[in-house]
Amino acid sequence: MAEPFPKDYDPRTVEPKWQEFWEREGIYRFDWEDRERPVFSIDTPPPYPSGDFHMGNVLNWTYFDVVARYKRMRGYNVLFPQGWDCHGLPTEVRVEQKHGITKTEVSPEEFRRLCMEFVEENIEAMKKAIRRLGYSIDWSLEYKTMDPDYWRRTQLSFVLLYKKGYIYRAQHPVNWCPRCGTAIADAEVEYATRVDKLYFVRFPLADRPGEHLSIATTRPELIPACVAVAVHPDDERYQAYVGKELLVPFVDRRVRIFADEMVDPEFGTGVVMICTYGDKEDVRFVARHGLPVIACIGEDGRMTERAGKYAGLTIEEAREAIVRDLEAEGLLVKVEPITHEVGTCWRCHTPVEILVREQWFMRVRDLTDKVVKKALEEIRWFPDYMKWRLVEWARSLDWDWVISRQRVFATPIPAWYCARCGHVIVAEPEWLPVDPKKEPPRLDACPRCGCREFKPETDVLDTWFDSSITCAVHAGWPDRPDWRRFFPADLHPSGYDIIRTWAYYLMVRHLALFDEVPFKACLINGMVLGTDGRMMHKSYGNYVPATEPIERYGADATRWWAIAGGTTGSDVPFRWEEVRHGWRFLRKLWNAARFTYLQLEGFGPGESKPELQLLDRWLLSKLARTVQVATEALEECRFNTALMAIRDFTWHVFCDHYIEAVKHRLYNPELHGRESRRAAQHTLYTALYSIVRLLAPFCPHIAEELYQRIFRPFEGHKSVHIAPWPEPPEGFPDSEAEKAGDLVVTVIGAVRREKAKRRLPLNAPLEAILVFAPESWQAEAIRACEADVLGTCKARRLEVSVGEGEGEEVRGYPGLRISIKP
Ligand SMILES: [Zn+2]
Ligand SMILES: [Zn+2]
Repeated sequence: MAEPFPKDYDPRTVEPKWQEFWEREGIYRFDWEDRERPVFSIDTPPPYPSGDFHMGNVLNWTYFDVVARYKRMRGYNVLFPQGWDCHGLPTEVRVEQKHGITKTEVSPEEFRRLCMEFVEENIEAMKKAIRRLGYSIDWSLEYKTMDPDYWRRTQLSFVLLYKKGYIYRAQHPVNWCPRCGTAIADAEVEYATRVDKLYFVRFPLADRPGEHLSIATTRPELIPACVAVAVHPDDERYQAYVGKELLVPFVDRRVRIFADEMVDPEFGTGVVMICTYGDKEDVRFVARHGLPVIACIGEDGRMTERAGKYAGLTIEEAREAIVRDLEAEGLLVKVEPITHEVGTCWRCHTPVEILVREQWFMRVRDLTDKVVKKALEEIRWFPDYMKWRLVEWARSLDWDWVISRQRVFATPIPAWYCARCGHVIVAEPEWLPVDPKKEPPRLDACPRCGCREFKPETDVLDTWFDSSITCAVHAGWPDRPDWRRFFPADLHPSGYDIIRTWAYYLMVRHLALFDEVPFKACLINGMVLGTDGRMMHKSYGNYVPATEPIERYGADATRWWAIAGGTTGSDVPFRWEEVRHGWRFLRKLWNAARFTYLQLEGFGPGESKPELQLLDRWLLSKLARTVQVATEALEECRFNTALMAIRDFTWHVFCDHYIEAVKHRLYNPELHGRESRRAAQHTLYTALYSIVRLLAPFCPHIAEELYQRIFRPFEGHKSVHIAPWPEPPEGFPDSEAEKAGDLVVTVIGAVRREKAKRRLPLNAPLEAILVFAPESWQAEAIRACEADVLGTCKARRLEVSVGEGEGEEVRGYPGLRISIKP
């Protein structure tokens, strides 16, 4: 206790000091060998290294850091790793932009090098932000999915799933982004509302010269890929035409008119063309009726040979050209505006095409029943209703997961093909990690035809294929023989926007690989909204970088916003007011702690327990309830309920009432006795030490600073973050003490209000306070606290009578009246 206690709290110096201390002392180090403490493992999301740790990340990380810290104090051995999800389109697109190139303009090796360089820089920037916010990560467990050692795990999971029959290669329509030049999964298609044009086009009837049907389409450029036309079976306008044939304009092709329930007779003319492929409905239709596939759009987003004279044009160019030609031929009836949903690439927002290409798939639909059952029966969700997002997504899927991508910066698919017979050779586990483009398979010859030449698979894996094995990887799979001890993860945190990707893919991967759920509980956070109530986004002009509140008010106040801003799972608006409120609270706490520290001189918490007075018992009872409420709330991830309970107790009970009411006992031991001072000291010590520990998961820096200054010499734990979580003080709560104490502090408040009303200064001496109490317990309670009432109100005399009398009625106590004599 030698260091002076500064008057003001300065997070700028305090926060970095403890961040260094925690790391230096290994406070958050996971102990793999510990067999005593129970394990609590967190499936930390490996973020995409964008370079920017934004307010959404702050919200997310603060949630699970609170859990990690709480569990550590509850005696758990907490596994809290941090990885980086390096691969994938976002990185490639950013590198292409940064260097003004496309992936095909430099060699794959060079492109990969540029990507890795970009990722490393961004990781450094984000790591700095994560450290600056004081998250209790064990950095010895850091990993990057682009490292060959992580490849090995991703590839091993691929090989094992292939051997189990969960992975297959097939020709199947896939969502395709022509700009990114790759297949993408259903989960990566975003729907945007757009205003487009609806073209009404005449298709001549094949055997009835001069007659035609009009179809309506938003995609006239797909006319060369038209393989059928359909009407609703009940649509009387067209029943006579079903089974007849139409001539497709510009291509020499007859197509049949089908009757099919899927056609909406209200849309356009009620006649639609089926193209390969305009949308998923087309895919279903073509499969149902066994129609041919005519791919008139290529992987690069240009028209193919099959588009005839439009070959080589971009989609947009082809649309314009075809519309011009339709008009010239007199086949364009009219054009109307239409508002509709268009599927676009999540990354670059280019409209997605549906192409057929040989791809690798994971057989996820076979797992749907299992996913649904486990999600509902074995996993706890915070908040509970979020489970339906996963269940509904799993049930809605009509295609398997396409896991191959036609990109560069990703984990290679560990496979080759026989150059002669095309036989697929998938790597054996002991060949991993492997880049098939650089190494041949470890086989002398093709097992099917004996050929000695192989072609590498050049496709790579979807990034989600890397990150959807984290629960097993964090546990040490496949290297630790005892990895199952740390699996499934106890907590999987996620934003509600990625339940359909991350939570879903984790489920299918771990269920298929290990026949076990990846996590026991799922903690969902909402999105961060800007001050204008819209999603916080750079392009909306409502963006606040996380560094701003941290620099102005510190990490603890920024974390305060994340917790106080809303309930778990709800969207949280960013409000400076909330950050400032946190900051004001921390200052209040600092002042109260400084007061306590100065008053504890000569006090030893180990000494015999002093005789407590009524207000001491009142405070400890309120403290006991606060501990109960906060603990219950934290067990259910209701962080904001816990924090508000801690705030209300600290601010409004401890600071506003208790400290004020015991100052005179602390200042004047000669008047009230040493024992009464010791009772106040004991109560201050107990309450503040509990407050500091209750607050430690939320505002770890100030908690550590106060702990080290005031409590460590007595308590001995190296850090507050490994001190035990507070228990209600022994013998509390005590309802009687609480009831009586509530009355006494209300009476003190009423006296102070009377002083204010008479324009007397708060410290003005009073000759007497007169109280008339209708009930005898009230009189007893007030008399029992005579010294505290007189001392706090600076009065010489207290007269308490039972019965009716004159004076101001005290709020909340009908018939109880007070008056003061200056
Ligand atoms: Zn794209
Ligand atoms: Zn072969």
